[in-house]
Amino acid sequence: MDGGEKIGSIVNGANNAGLLQVLLLEDNVSDFRAFRKALEKRRMTSRVSLYDDPDEALKRIADAPDRFDLIVINHHVAGNAGLRFCHELFETSVAVPRLFLTDNETLGIQLQKMRFVEDYLVTDPDREYLKVLPLLISEMMHKAAEQKARREHEQAMQALENRFRTVLSHVVDAILIVSRDGVVKLANPAARRLLGGLYDNPVGRQFPYPATPGATTELQIETSPTEMRTAEMRVTAVEWGGETASLASLRDISDRKQMEDALKTANHLRDRIIEELKSANQTILDQQKAVIEEERLKVLLQMAGVTVKELDEPLTALLESVEKLGREETDPTIRAMIMDQIQTAGRRIAGMIRQVRMFHFEDAEHPNESTLSTAPAMEKSPERPITLLVGEPSEADFRTIRGLLAAHNGVRLLRAETIAEALTKAADGDVDLILSEYPYPDGTAIDLIRRLRGRGLNIPLMVLTGQGDEVIASRVIQTGAHDYIPKHSLSASSLMEAVWKTLDKAQIQKEVRTARKQITRMTLVDDLTGLYNRRHFEDCLNREFSRCRRSGTDMVLCMCDLDHFKLINDRYGHIAGDRVLSDFGNLVRDLVRQSDVPCRYGGEEFIIIFPETDMASAVHVAERLRKAVADHRFISDEAVIAATVSIGLAGLKTSQAVFPDDLVARADESLYVAKEEGRNRVVAFPMSPGPIPAP
Ligand code: GH3
Ligand code: MG
Ligand code: MG
Repeated sequence: MDGGEKIGSIVNGANNAGLLQVLLLEDNVSDFRAFRKALEKRRMTSRVSLYDDPDEALKRIADAPDRFDLIVINHHVAGNAGLRFCHELFETSVAVPRLFLTDNETLGIQLQKMRFVEDYLVTDPDREYLKVLPLLISEMMHKAAEQKARREHEQAMQALENRFRTVLSHVVDAILIVSRDGVVKLANPAARRLLGGLYDNPVGRQFPYPATPGATTELQIETSPTEMRTAEMRVTAVEWGGETASLASLRDISDRKQMEDALKTANHLRDRIIEELKSANQTILDQQKAVIEEERLKVLLQMAGVTVKELDEPLTALLESVEKLGREETDPTIRAMIMDQIQTAGRRIAGMIRQVRMFHFEDAEHPNESTLSTAPAMEKSPERPITLLVGEPSEADFRTIRGLLAAHNGVRLLRAETIAEALTKAADGDVDLILSEYPYPDGTAIDLIRRLRGRGLNIPLMVLTGQGDEVIASRVIQTGAHDYIPKHSLSASSLMEAVWKTLDKAQIQKEVRTARKQITRMTLVDDLTGLYNRRHFEDCLNREFSRCRRSGTDMVLCMCDLDHFKLINDRYGHIAGDRVLSDFGNLVRDLVRQSDVPCRYGGEEFIIIFPETDMASAVHVAERLRKAVADHRFISDEAVIAATVSIGLAGLKTSQAVFPDDLVARADESLYVAKEEGRNRVVAFPMSPGPIPAP
């Protein structure tokens, strides 16, 4: 039985719709009416559902526990079933406020104490109790609302805390809540791990660092006896358990710290390397300059020195002899001797003049290799136009360079966009200097340098490098670039200055190269024997060979090898051996003609070029030499040493040599035969059945 009706007045009390839903357990209909009236009187908007069967009411409540705001139970419903109903309702833990109407106050108190009901009201036959009923209900509803709000708040707080804990357990940073007196109230797993070296579980323990809200501190935490970690701690003020506390979040920054440190060290190292490279580069440049200057000076001194020293001796001898002759020496033998000395000195001076002539002749042969001069290598003269080949794939960069050089009238610019193009233009000639970008579509400046040098093109080259490209710079210099210019420091003046400097440097290097060549050629004589050295022999042989072939005259090569020279060394020592070689040199010099070229071929082997000589004459001279050696007593310290020489001859005509080397080989063959046949003899090519017998 469902009763109650809606009354249009608004009262206190409270469900969503502002309508109080009451379940009344009562079997007396007039009491029900009185109940409703009492509420109406107090203007309580309510709907009262009347139930006289406790079981049915229970069922109804269980089906829809939220339907009712209040359950009012009459003690004496259906006999005395109200009490049982209270008990059974309590068992269901339905949280709807309950009011017990009873005539037994003690029982009411009891039930309230046991929390079977929220309140009770003592009934009376005159229904006086209904006067307080609305007030009591209002109070109950108010309390219930408060309780509900508190419950919801607690639930919300609990949910929040749970969420907080879940989040905390997943956070990588260590999070701790620290109370005002420094006790750890909460620590997430990351915090336990980070502080594991200090205590097993930090909760309830004193936090060892000052957790001042607002502060960010770097902490060194001992995570184990052997390991320290660095953590960054940020602290914020929070409410915790109704009190102000600190939330400390600690981030392990050890790795970052290490990386930062490593980066710092690397940067520092890089800066140092760059500095060192720069200063090394400067040192190299300075040294190069110094060396070039020194070489230049040396060349000049040597040239002067050689001429003076070499000329000095025969010239003095010549003058002395002339002077002697002037003293009117009458003894014909002495006069003949003096004349002989004059002739020797004259011959030597003539020889030197020939050398000097040859030196100039070589200069004339290489007009590109400039002669030495003390004047600056390259004049910065506006009249001297220069051609720059700019190897630059980028149109914009080329325009920049052209702009920078625009003010210099004497500079002609060529451009190459690839290495191949640069090579072609460089080979066309007329390029004074190459200004090269590092990367090309078909390689790098290093490839360009290598390919230029590979083709014998020694055009000075400068490389444009980017900022921080010191490694590239040092590599291009090592490969043979003359200089490099960092692009970021380019200006019209610096570029032109660098161009001139490089041209200067290249010019000096060229001069030094030429000078070196000349100096080498000037040292033609073997120190020990005073005969020409092998290099000079080769030069002369080539020259004489072609000259004789051209002119159709004969020439003979005479190869000499001292016999058993090893034995001489072994028996008398190396110094004695040297003495023999030196004396042999004198014997040869005395015997050959001015036009002959006697040379030390190597060790104890000698070779003499007899230009414009036929084989018969050559055999004659060789035989004289052989005999002179055999007759000579070589003296070293106490020792008197006998030595012999074997000689092999080969003539241009008789050997029909096509190349100079053929002649050397034939002479060597003859010498071999001379050795085979017992040494101390002369054998001529072609070996005739009866070689020239030894005396
Ligand atoms: P052979 O008659 O077959 O030519 O015999 P050999 O001993 O002369 O020939 P071998 O080639 O066996 O030895 C040449 C020796 O000449 C060996 C080397 O020590 C010596 N020798 C080469 N150059 C010099 C030098 O400048 N000074 C001295 N003292 N000895 C030299
Ligand atoms: Mg030998
Ligand atoms: Mg020998």
